[in-house]
Parts: sequence; C-alpha cells; structure tokens
Amino acid sequence: MTPAIGAATRIPRDSHSVSRKNISDNALKVIHRLRSKGHQALLVGGAVRDLLLGNQPKDFDVATDATPEKVHSLFGNSRIIGRRFRIVHVRFGRELIEVTTFRGHHDASDERQDSSQGSHHSTQGVLLRDNVFGSLEEDAIRRDFTVNALYYNVDDFSLFDHVDGLVDLQQRQLRIIGDAEQRYREDPVRMLRAIRFSAKLDFSIVPGTAAPIAELAYLLEAIPPARLFDEMLKLFMTGCALRTFRLLCDHGLIEHLFPATATAMDDMPYARALIEAAMDSTDTRVAEDKPITPAFLFAALLWPPTVQLQRQLEDRGVPSAEALSEAGNTITSEQVHHLSIPRRFSHAMFEIWSLQSQLQTRTGRGSQALMRLRRFRAAYDFLLLREQSGEDLDGLGKVWTKLQQELPAAAVKTEAETGARRRGRRHYPSRKPR
Ligand code: ATP
Ligand code: MG
Repeated sequence: MTPAIGAATRIPRDSHSVSRKNISDNALKVIHRLRSKGHQALLVGGAVRDLLLGNQPKDFDVATDATPEKVHSLFGNSRIIGRRFRIVHVRFGRELIEVTTFRGHHDASDERQDSSQGSHHSTQGVLLRDNVFGSLEEDAIRRDFTVNALYYNVDDFSLFDHVDGLVDLQQRQLRIIGDAEQRYREDPVRMLRAIRFSAKLDFSIVPGTAAPIAELAYLLEAIPPARLFDEMLKLFMTGCALRTFRLLCDHGLIEHLFPATATAMDDMPYARALIEAAMDSTDTRVAEDKPITPAFLFAALLWPPTVQLQRQLEDRGVPSAEALSEAGNTITSEQVHHLSIPRRFSHAMFEIWSLQSQLQTRTGRGSQALMRLRRFRAAYDFLLLREQSGEDLDGLGKVWTKLQQELPAAAVKTEAETGARRRGRRHYPSRKPR
C-alpha cells in the first residue's frame, strides 16, 4: 500500500522558526552549488527538525534531484558511499554533509520492475536496495517519520511539508509515513530509529506507529550485525541511553539485540539495575563532556549472562578465572551473531571483567600496581555500579575509594602516562588456568 502524495504545504519564512543563520555554511555551500547547476537542493531531515525544535543539529542532510554521480562530479571533496542506499558525503574538514538523491516510489510486489529500476526487495519485503530516484514529493513519503520529512528551501526560506510533519512536531509525536508494518518490514532498523528519536526528542510514538513494533521486533535478526553496532552507538552514546534502553525493553526489542542479556535480566535480580546504572553513568559523562567508550556498556550488558554461565562452569569444577574467561568467550561469540562488537571493544570489556576479581584479591601489596593499569578506572567504576545495583561485595568499593585517596597523586601514574609498553600483557583471564 502506497500512501497518496498529498499536496505540499508551503510554510513561508515568517510562519516558522528556522533561521538561516543557524544553518551550517558548508551545507549552504553545497545547496547553492547544486542550485547554480540547475538542480533542486534543499535541507532536509534531522537538521530541519532540530532547528524547528530550537536544538543544535548534529549534522546537515541535503536532498537533491541530482544523481549521486552528478553530485560527486560537482564536489572534489566528495565520496559516493553505500550500496543499499547510495549517498554522497561531501567533506569540509571535520564536517560531513550528506547528500541524498530524491528517492522514488517502487512497488514491493513487483520484483521484476524493482530490480530493473534499482531497487530490490527480499521475499520478506525487506528493501535490499533503494536506488530508484524520483521527485521531491516522492522523496518525502519514502522518508521514515513525518517530522523527518520537512524540507527547507533556501531560495525563499520557506518549508515544504508533504506529510503534516509540522503538526506532529508541534505535538511532539513520531508518526511513521505510510503503513507502519510495511515500512518496518522494508527496513526493520526503522523500529530502532523510532525508539531513538522518541528518547532523544522526548516525543511520544503515536499508537499506530508503536503498536506493530513488539510483533515485528524479530525482524532485527536479519539485519547485519555491523549495522546494528552502528545503530547501538547512536542509541546509547548520545546522552539518553537510559531512556532508550527502557524503551527498547518496553517494546520487546532488546531480546533481538542482546538475547543472552534479556534472558539473564529475567533470571537475575540485579542484572537490569546494573545495566541501567551503566546507561545512567554514560549519560552523565556525556552531559559533562567526559570521554565514553562502548566497551564499558558492553561490559555491563554482557556481564549478567557471563556471570550466570561462569557460575554454571564453576559448579562443574572449572576454576573461577578460567570459568569467567570461558563464559565471556561463549557469550561474546553468540552475541556477535546479532550485534557485532569490534575487537578493540571486546578486548577492553574482558579487561574490565578480569579486573573485577583482581580488585577483590589485591587490596594489599599489589594495589598500587593495579591502580596504574590503563583499565583500572573503568574497572573501579564498574565495581561501584555492581554494588550500587545490589550485589553484595562486602564494601569493596569503599576499600578501593579509600586506597586511591591514600595514595599520593604521583604514585598513580597510569600506564599511558608512564609510556610503559604493556600491549603484549593481557589483563583478562587466559583460556588456560595459570
Ligand atoms: P540525527 O542525524 O539527528 O540522528 P536524522 O533524522 O538526521 O537524525 P539521519 O540518520 O541523519 O537521521 O538520516 C537523515 C534523514 O534520512 C532522516 O531524517 C530521514 O528523513 C531519512 N532516513 C534515514 N534513515 C532512514 C530509513 N531507515 N528509512 C527512511 N528514511 C530514512
Ligand atoms: Mg542527520
């Protein structure tokens, strides 16, 4: 079912709050260049939405009728990226302007016509390629949510609204464009985007857009793990991880992103509290502009199932450190079939885990050496979260807080500061018992 293209509403400059001076000069440069060559080019997507909400846009997206090849030929500093969805990145120093060619309509039921025209659906209705180009009107209804389908025209500073996005924006609600089920089947990541925008913008999701999510959540299983990792960064690393996590649980999505975690959350009383504490602390660090790493979140998300399995192995007589290592490896290798974990992050995650037992045993003479380790701080923070979420660790957090306070600052130079090369040395349990 294809939504009919409604008449565009044109909202003149004095009836909306987007001000040209808040738009990136580089985005304007791209738009003007395309227009000077006779093309249509407008600002679209998150930037228009965020400007209307009075927020600073994260990045600027431009929509045009020029093909990706044409856009690329106009900008030396550009690259065509993507296969499923080809777009052009125009780079200006650290800023990237994303230029997309207007998407056109294609019919999921007509496979033959699809592939000849540049789009391709799987038998489940997943949009494997979406490179059929079209008009501005068609482009608007191919976008995900109505509030993401507003266009800003630099020519006369007006907005184009084909999908009543402005009303939804004013009512602070997310509404998918067209038939929700079909749009989620085409691209299941749209379910995650609904959650992300709802959390980030503090928007409600209208019932028709929210309702099918729980039932279709399983479709995420077909999404490449690397794409889900990219989405996870956007979900959890941009300042509203806690709210996002709760919504992912409420809508039945978490079990398709982190299945072992979801099972452990049902079985272990402190599991959810630990993960939420890690999300909350990540949000606080983002707000304070402190560095954050996905490794810490992975450590929290996968700790409950890992500990659960570790205990089972210990019950079978496997020594504790080896059991942790084996459990961690098993849980991690299952996890990466769903949502991948780049090796550098899984490595750091294992370091944080392995330090947990060292923090329990080395409060005496070895404590200074431990405090100098690169991952000590993260491991100590993790320990505090474990206690905070209800694990009884016999006041270990306080012991380490005190040990750090007692130490003169000069003595806690970290590995990085002393330049010590310890790369070869592992701080996570080896597979074999020592
Ligand atoms: P932000 O950049 O703030 O996270 P955004 O809305 O700009 O939010 P992008 O991922 O940059 O999100 O995408 C730009 C625009 O492209 C969106 O606003 C939307 O119109 C469209 N879009 C992105 N992903 C999809 C998708 N999976 N399906 C349909 N349209 C999409
Ligand atoms: Mg964007």
